[in-house]
Amino acid sequence: MTSPCPEPSVWSRLIDRQLPEEMAQSLRAHASGCSRCQAELRDTESLAARIAAPLEPAASTDEAVARVMLRVRPGPAERRAQARWSRPWAGGAVAAALAAGIAVLVLRPMPVRPPGEETATARGSAAVASLGRGVGITFHTAGTGTTPLTSGAVVPAESGFGVRYRNVDTRGPVYLLAFAQDARGEVHWLYPAHLSEDANEPSVRLEAASEPRVLEEVVVLEEPAPGPLRLVSVVTRAPLGVKDIESLAAEARTPEALQQRWPEASVESVSVVLAEPRP
Ligand SMILES: [Zn+2]
Repeated sequence: MTSPCPEPSVWSRLIDRQLPEEMAQSLRAHASGCSRCQAELRDTESLAARIAAPLEPAASTDEAVARVMLRVRPGPAERRAQARWSRPWAGGAVAAALAAGIAVLVLRPMPVRPPGEETATARGSAAVASLGRGVGITFHTAGTGTTPLTSGAVVPAESGFGVRYRNVDTRGPVYLLAFAQDARGEVHWLYPAHLSEDANEPSVRLEAASEPRVLEEVVVLEEPAPGPLRLVSVVTRAPLGVKDIESLAAEARTPEALQQRWPEASVESVSVVLAEPRP
């Protein structure tokens, strides 16, 4: 990685998901090849994780926040989906209406930014959708080693795909589904392994890992269609099953659609290009 080191302040924005996906990916790629930025990112993440750890039991804090949010925006699903990505309520009259919610959030230990700034509202969304802050998923091939695959990378058809993760979430178990969708719209499972058509294998539980950890299997796709290949990870608090994905139409399997379907999940994806198999 030869791209110049970014300003240290970007790492908290990255963790807070305030950056466009493309920029986030290139930052992650940079950090994976730069020990200085990797350390910076790790420190920021562990700080964020400590902040995310509530003083009260997690459920009651989340519920308190959710109740306040519900009063502000009707429709829990819509609210969470939007809160996660665009935070439309992070300012103005709505922020004022959220005052009670902010009070809940200020009870957290050691805020990075002084409470009372407008960013206190952003912390609110982090409390609702904290999974993305504590869990990071990257996809790899043998060719990329520990460097995460980035969008547009051309990958040999016979490549094995692996998943690395970090999990500094402290609020309870987290579970991963990871799959690839090829140019024909076919789903190839990475995690869990989907061996029998009838089985509804559950997500795999991710152990706590403050350092990036590799899931032990590397998966070679079975006769994937060459062309665009989208690798998708869905991290949830409760296990899902492969059928939760397989039962969906291809257009409902986009990262955006999955995020809407499971607003509290952390959905990440990277689109690569699968080369034609060698003759
Ligand atoms: Zn760097």
